[in-house]
Amino acid sequence: MSNHVPHIIEVAIPLHLDRTFHYRVPREMEGQALAGRRAFVPFGRRRLTGYILGNVTEPPPHELKEIFEVLDPEPLWTDSELEFFRWVAYYYLHPLGEVLKTALPAGINIQDRKGSGQDDPTVSGGKAIKTEIVYRAVAPCEPAPHLGAKAADILGVIREAGDIPAAELRRRFGTCSPQLKRLAELGLVTGETREVYRNPFGDDAVKRDTPRVLSPHQQAALDALCAALDRHAFAPFLLHGVTGSGKTEVYLQAIDQALGQDNNALVLVPEISLTPQLVQRFRARFGHGIAILHSGLSDGERYDEWRRIRRGQARIVIGARSAIFAPLARIGIIIVDEEHEASFKQADGLRYNARDLALVRGRMERAVVLLGSATPLVTSRYAAEHGKLALLTLPERVEHRPMPTVELAPMKGVATAISPLLVPALEATLAAGEQAIIFLNRRGFATYLVCAECGAPLACPNCSVSLTYHRQRGQSVCHYCDYAIPAPGICPACGCQELKELGAGTERLEHDLRELVPQARILRMDSDTTGGKGSHGRLLARMSDGSADILVGTQMIAKGHDFPGVTLVGVVNAEASLGMPDFRAAERTFQLLSQVIGRAGRGDAPGRVVVQTLNSDHYAIQNAVRHDSDAFYRQELEFRREVGYPPFSFLACLGFSGTTERPVEEHAETIARLLTQLKREKGLRVEILGPAPAPLYRLRGRFRRQILLKSPTRNDLRRLIAAWQQNRPAVSTIREYVDIDPVDM
Ligand code: ADP
Ligand code: ZN
Repeated sequence: MSNHVPHIIEVAIPLHLDRTFHYRVPREMEGQALAGRRAFVPFGRRRLTGYILGNVTEPPPHELKEIFEVLDPEPLWTDSELEFFRWVAYYYLHPLGEVLKTALPAGINIQDRKGSGQDDPTVSGGKAIKTEIVYRAVAPCEPAPHLGAKAADILGVIREAGDIPAAELRRRFGTCSPQLKRLAELGLVTGETREVYRNPFGDDAVKRDTPRVLSPHQQAALDALCAALDRHAFAPFLLHGVTGSGKTEVYLQAIDQALGQDNNALVLVPEISLTPQLVQRFRARFGHGIAILHSGLSDGERYDEWRRIRRGQARIVIGARSAIFAPLARIGIIIVDEEHEASFKQADGLRYNARDLALVRGRMERAVVLLGSATPLVTSRYAAEHGKLALLTLPERVEHRPMPTVELAPMKGVATAISPLLVPALEATLAAGEQAIIFLNRRGFATYLVCAECGAPLACPNCSVSLTYHRQRGQSVCHYCDYAIPAPGICPACGCQELKELGAGTERLEHDLRELVPQARILRMDSDTTGGKGSHGRLLARMSDGSADILVGTQMIAKGHDFPGVTLVGVVNAEASLGMPDFRAAERTFQLLSQVIGRAGRGDAPGRVVVQTLNSDHYAIQNAVRHDSDAFYRQELEFRREVGYPPFSFLACLGFSGTTERPVEEHAETIARLLTQLKREKGLRVEILGPAPAPLYRLRGRFRRQILLKSPTRNDLRRLIAAWQQNRPAVSTIREYVDIDPVDM
């Protein structure tokens, strides 16, 4: 007893602390307090949920507190997953406990409520494990005495079924708990609680399909992937395939190969709720064994999917960015579809980029990593040129379908939202029984209401943006904080009653189209029309089955969809995204435009695109119109070289915000001076830009400043930020964040 070695564990706590903590494990919990499980621990005067990282062999320098309880019967994570999370915490300079918490599905936290978790910050809303009671017969089949007719019938059904859920019995017999209770007392049946998974797919069945015969380019890409899969070593690829070139088919067949090697597959997609078609294609090919993870699921559904994955009951995981943390074992291949999408980057909390982490996790798992896109990131193409990614190309559409023909419709001096060039094209498309997509990346009716008297725009009181006029809702709305007032209202500056509508949104476009082509059946898809669960799917289904002619929408309709009936695409305000105060504005514009153009002519009939713009000379627009991503890449790369932005430097952004302006400004200045001093002391090659107001300098009532750090080496960047974090002069009223490799700045 006396020379018992104390069992000490290292625990990560989900708080903003740059360190982990040691605890003693009481004798009776020694077998359970293992790495990857959660423990309920004392922390100061609080009780918190922490994550056990492993045992500590060093004897403690001082008396340690004991944990209260181990929360999980099974580990949530394996050692190699914990290693990945440590890497994430290190790279993003984010507390490990917070990383682990981010990686868990919200639904799991319900379990923390046991014990007294009054001030436990990890407890959030969520659904517990869902269970059902299943009855089965136990006694031999002899006639049982003292049974009423109903009980005898119920017993008969249970015996016949083998086992049957209580809910099913209730459906057949109505209330039957007295009978079930009696049958159980007589020892004729037992009731047993069993876990059930909520099914995010509902009950709809999908038609199975079979692999297609690949085109030579597809086959060459697949061969390279299969050769890499056979080596069971880390192998990163960039699949650059034009829209409609059959990238998804390559994914499916590569996954099939990985599954055949008894490995699993992880597929990351930008916004899965927007691409039900892709999920359908996976289900059609592989049937069951697919788990999906995305924000459209309820907490309970997500937690169920998570548990299925942990238990090895799903071989393929398809999900949005957070799926990079899925507890999937034996990963053979990780696919990042539309790798250029900004939505792989998390915009708050742990600001990770799932596309980048796919490469990290893939390296640790010795997996094949496949980044696919029709418009890869400039940095990805650069990495491919320098041998860091193996390049696979699909330069043609499947079945030799041509790329659509694209014409520019200059809008200088045109007063209408829809170009006179587009109207006859729409009419011809409708007359041919074909479909059209009209794209405008702005929702609402008018993007500004401007006072006719004093010229002041109607602005949000909480954010530095103007309010968008939504005619159907009868409101003017802030798209950032949801502030809304009845519209049109009066000018708050001068009290004038007349407000002018400027700048068209999708609602206005739909309205105009109904007048211009009254015979068309028009759908609108933007975040105003897709609030309800499954509404995306329903809108898309109406395009697929031909019960709609024109789909009007925001970037939601730009990506991924495969509507063979669409032969005409109209782009309204193509230059809108060029105005963004971001060095990636041209790249974003080129990508978005190329993706939209790529929706046309994916079926047997060739496609045609009309691009309305005020800026037809810009190289992003010119090259998208010519389908020339090589020319765009070369021009963009030159621009990046001149201004010293990625891939020629690495970036980090430090952000500061508070509810009053002056203190935020002063704090940001103090930090900038401190950084300059630390940089000199340590001789680091880092350029410190700012502090400057953030592009949206006021957001949800908070004033925002930022400092941009730029360096030729990642290492100098992280050393400078780490040094600042150790010397952090904190001001309690000011929020700070670190964003490594920022995407939206
Ligand atoms: P991408 O993802 O590159 O835009 P998709 O994978 O969606 O392209 O393919 C476009 C269309 O071509 C889909 O309808 C797909 O089923 C079909 N397709 C893909 N590969 C082939 C092939 N080898 N032969 C015939 N059709 C194919
Ligand atoms: Zn606002």
